Amino acid sequence: MSSKLASSLIHLTLFAAVCAIAAYWGVRILTPQPTAAPPPLAAPPPREPDPVLAARMFGQVQQAAARTVSNIQVAGLFAAGKDSSAVLVVDGKPPRVFVLGQEVTPGTRLVDVTGDHAVVESSGGRMELRAPPRPVAAGWRLLLEPGGSFVTDQVVLAAGAGCRALAPDLPERHRASWAGVLALPVRPTLSPPSTSPWWRHAVGRRIVQPRHWQRPGLERAAAGLAEERWIVDAGCAPRGEGLLLGQITLVRPGLDTGEPPEPVAMETRLRQGLAALDPPLAALPGPYRQVPVAFCTGGLPLVGPLPGAPGLWVFSGFGGAFAQVPVLAPLLADVIAGVADGSALAGLGVLPG
Ligand SMILES: Cc1cc2nc3c(=O)[nH]c(=O)nc-3n(C[C@H](O)[C@H](O)[C@H](O)COP(=O)(O)OP(=O)(O)OC[C@H]3O[C@@H](n4cnc5c(N)ncnc54)[C@H](O)[C@@H]3O)c2cc1C
Repeated sequence: MSSKLASSLIHLTLFAAVCAIAAYWGVRILTPQPTAAPPPLAAPPPREPDPVLAARMFGQVQQAAARTVSNIQVAGLFAAGKDSSAVLVVDGKPPRVFVLGQEVTPGTRLVDVTGDHAVVESSGGRMELRAPPRPVAAGWRLLLEPGGSFVTDQVVLAAGAGCRALAPDLPERHRASWAGVLALPVRPTLSPPSTSPWWRHAVGRRIVQPRHWQRPGLERAAAGLAEERWIVDAGCAPRGEGLLLGQITLVRPGLDTGEPPEPVAMETRLRQGLAALDPPLAALPGPYRQVPVAFCTGGLPLVGPLPGAPGLWVFSGFGGAFAQVPVLAPLLADVIAGVADGSALAGLGVLPG
């Protein structure tokens, strides 16, 4: 009985194997051959080379040069021939003023500005950037000296002593003095030899300044003056190939600078003051020059918005312009552009008042 069962199982197994082989070859033989090979899979897109990794590959460990930023938008245009400039927003950063020829991004320069567009140039060619249209009705129209006009919604008065003529309502602490110097076109030589230390400093192109300036005291007293007063702060400074000898300051009562003071009298006073420092310097031949210069009584300049005149700002009356302007000009620009809070100016105590 058991040998009969074993024989049946063997037959069944062999039958199943025959069926499997028949099914395999049936499928192989009956399936039609493909007419064309399937299209190859698309290759993955090439990766943008990483400049930092590429630089490191060649042994550089510092940051590789940034790629040129091409996202430049125009926020404002000032078309004035070779003095043209444009306010540009580069890669979403705060707006910045660029003058003709200035590099906007690495390898890209501002090359032209017209009334409605700016042109930048790079090795890849020129690109015209159009300014967005701006409402004219709400703006300020500036009359340009060479002719023509320019409309803008933000104006900064930075005309020194000329500010009051443009904005008569400026606070009274903004005033102007007359400043005069001897402007020698060439540097004096040491012939005849002088024993004066100040002469030697002048020839050596060093700056000589008074230990105690009198000008700030005169400016502080300006509001209470009943008649004009002048002082001399004797000193010298190289200028180009020449030499400036100065300076005389004249302050008048009131807010009007008036007519220029009589130049011969001013030069005589200046030379007398210089003679107290160094007679040979005071005798040097050179033309006398004088200009009106703005100042603020109290020392703090006017930097901020003018009340009642939306879009009109003032930037004038510096006591020490060379130190103050490089700090305050970018700050005011940021406030106007809306990227800094106006309280930044109040914090410095320079708001008009
Ligand atoms: C002899 C001398 C030495 C000085 N030495 C120093 C020093 O060592 N350190 C220091 O910090 N400061 C010094 N100063 C002061 C400094 O020069 C001034 O504070 C500074 O020049 C002020 O700059 P500003 O641009 O506000 O005005 P300004 O230099 O007076 O410039 C105003 C400009 O506006 C122009 N303007 C006027 N009206 C108009 C108008 N309606 N339209 C268009 N443009 C107009 C004027 O022509 C001028 O070019 C010195 C000044 C003098 C006179």
